[in-house]
Amino acid sequence: MPFKIKLKIHYYVMLATALIIIFATRYSSVKIWDKLQLQIEDTLQIVSLQNSLTAENELHTKQDFLYGLAKQLPSNPAAKKDQVLRLLQPFTAIYNVKRFGFVDPNGHAYTTDGHDADLSGQDFFEAGMQGRSYITDIREDDITEAEQINVFSVPVYHQNGNMISGVLFATYRTTTFNDLLDTECFDGNGYSCIIKQSGRIIMAARHSPFYKNKNIFYTLRNIDNDNLTGISEMETAMEQNKSGLASCNIKGSHYIYYTPLASSITDSQWYLLTIVPASVLTERLDQVFFYVKLLLAIIVIVLLGAFFYYVYTYWAQKKQLTTLAYVDPLTNGDNYASFKEKMKKKKGTSGYIISTDIFEFRIINNICGVQKGNEVLQHVWQIIIRHLSEHELAAHIHADRFIFFWADDPSTSISERIDQINEEIGLLAAELNTPRIQLYLGIYHTDKPEQTEEGYGCANQAKHAVKTRMDKNYSLYEEINFKQWLENHRLEDGFEEAIQNHRFEIWYQPKYSTKDQNVVSAEALVRWRDVDGNLIPPYKFIPLFEQNGMISVLDEYVFDAVCAQQRQWQSEGRHVLPVSVNISRSSLYYSTIVKKYAAILNSYELPAQNIQLEITESAAVDNSEIMTLIDQFHEIGFHLLLDDFGTGYSSLSTLNQMHFDTLKLDKSLIDHIGDTNGEKLLYYIIKLAQSLGLKITAEGVEYKNQFEFLQQLACDDIQGYYFSKPLPSAEYAALL
Ligand code: C2E
Ligand code: MG
Ligand code: MG
Repeated sequence: MPFKIKLKIHYYVMLATALIIIFATRYSSVKIWDKLQLQIEDTLQIVSLQNSLTAENELHTKQDFLYGLAKQLPSNPAAKKDQVLRLLQPFTAIYNVKRFGFVDPNGHAYTTDGHDADLSGQDFFEAGMQGRSYITDIREDDITEAEQINVFSVPVYHQNGNMISGVLFATYRTTTFNDLLDTECFDGNGYSCIIKQSGRIIMAARHSPFYKNKNIFYTLRNIDNDNLTGISEMETAMEQNKSGLASCNIKGSHYIYYTPLASSITDSQWYLLTIVPASVLTERLDQVFFYVKLLLAIIVIVLLGAFFYYVYTYWAQKKQLTTLAYVDPLTNGDNYASFKEKMKKKKGTSGYIISTDIFEFRIINNICGVQKGNEVLQHVWQIIIRHLSEHELAAHIHADRFIFFWADDPSTSISERIDQINEEIGLLAAELNTPRIQLYLGIYHTDKPEQTEEGYGCANQAKHAVKTRMDKNYSLYEEINFKQWLENHRLEDGFEEAIQNHRFEIWYQPKYSTKDQNVVSAEALVRWRDVDGNLIPPYKFIPLFEQNGMISVLDEYVFDAVCAQQRQWQSEGRHVLPVSVNISRSSLYYSTIVKKYAAILNSYELPAQNIQLEITESAAVDNSEIMTLIDQFHEIGFHLLLDDFGTGYSSLSTLNQMHFDTLKLDKSLIDHIGDTNGEKLLYYIIKLAQSLGLKITAEGVEYKNQFEFLQQLACDDIQGYYFSKPLPSAEYAALL
């Protein structure tokens, strides 16, 4: 499943989990809120009931006290003012009464604070006269200074009967009830007030907004006119003698719990209101909710953390997998899969897909070890990517195989770019101390870079075709000689069968002594007798087998066959002359070659002098280990010839460093006989070789003048058409 979709699913799962948690928390917090609300109501109710009991108790006490006093009054108190006042006076201070007073049935009153007044219209007087005890609502003292007061009154009876002789009253400052009304609960933040059912305020705490007001509903409607329904509901409930909880905005949200007082206090129904700022109660809720919110925040943070951690690890894993899938472990660059992906994005452009490997890389690995081989690959990779411009790509496919894409560039030709790479690659061997490192490259031009597989296939075909080319190390697909290519395939495919069925024939080209023109030795040259009976010359398959590594098998086959032939000629009693066998430079890279050849030689019980070994100059220049090999071959007793001297890398120093026995001058040098410079060159080469103690064999001698020139210079042996072409074994045997 693509990464993005997976991530999306995880994102939704995470979101759903978060939502479930948030809703669950929200749901439980609502439940907690409701529970707490109920608890608050319960608390308020309990507190309110306590308050009402206290209030009732207090009011009863005050009334009972007044009744007690009334009973102690002398008969006809109206006439015994002094006596009455003397009786009452001491209690004013003790019971914190502003004044006591007695009102006669006509409404004339005298008081302990020295006033006489007409109270005939007063409600408390009238109630008293009707035989009822009474407590007034909150009012201003109209006897003395303006002050909020409540008056308690009781009827005073004649001692002998039911006749009412007046009314005894006690005036309390409303503030006296503060202690009663300022409830202790809720840390002193709550307060109470006592009202009539109608809302008329009986007593109110001094700091309450109702202290100086007449009607609580009227006041509430004024203060909180957004809550008219709530206020009306409370009013209705009170009319029905119910208790309950209301909330009002009295300079901030407040709870009001209303509960009726015992009806025995007065004739009408009174209510005690306990008023508490909502904040006092919600503080507790807030605390709970603080923890709920904290918990929620922690859950969300943990969830988010878990999600991001998950996404991070998933991403890291994905990256690791991508690295494994798209990064080549050897070069740390792109691999083929990544290359193909990137090539898809090149759609619409055109350029060259180039396939390359390293010429005989297997040999570098064998000689220098895998680690060195890897080092070579890394250096080659670095060179390849150094030669990429901005929008070009490269990848290491595996082993020594690389692919790269060069975009069309009108300013530089493909051959120029290849030459630049070749130049740098050419310096690598010296830098890394390895045998020669050379690329061969197959190039395919395409305007469909997204079809990478097809392009790579064509580039590969071009690369295979280049193996047969001697002039350059790269080939364009368009230039492929398909006939040649197919022929090479046929030869490669037929090789094993040819070895098994002895289709390789050994021909012998005699070498003649310049002194007496007698045959002194011969060179074994291989030919392939095709199934149709035709002979395939070595130039058709030797370079091919040198490329693909089959040559070492063939060389060994030839060596074995020559040994067998010599053995046979020997046993036939012929005069056996030494025969030189060619060893391709590729074969030399196998360090076991000396042992193998020695073993073959021994198996035919042949003296080593019967076989000579020809090693080409280029091989000698390339491989520093050749010196050791030469020494080892010498130890066995082989005679060693430096073949093809004068071609390719001519190096006179080779003559000195390597302990060859014979120098074979290449035909290209011999061809120059007749021109002064060529002859001079030959002269010095021969003199130098002779001074180093080397024997000289001239190859490719076709003409008499060549022979004579070489004879003059005391060249030892001649090999060439002038004397003889390579001969089938039987013909050569006839010469012995
Ligand atoms: P080479 O080792 O330098 O062999 C000499 C080549 O020169 C032979 O070609 C020979 O026929 C040719 N030659 C000799 N005299 C003349 C001449 O007067 N004129 C001309 N035009 N050519 C002359 P051949 O047999 O075609 O072999 C070509 C090359 O193939 C050999 O060059 C050698 O490098 C390689 N070769 C042949 N047999 C073997 C083999 O068994 N193993 C390996 N590794 N290479 C082999
Ligand atoms: Mg040779
Ligand atoms: Mg040669």
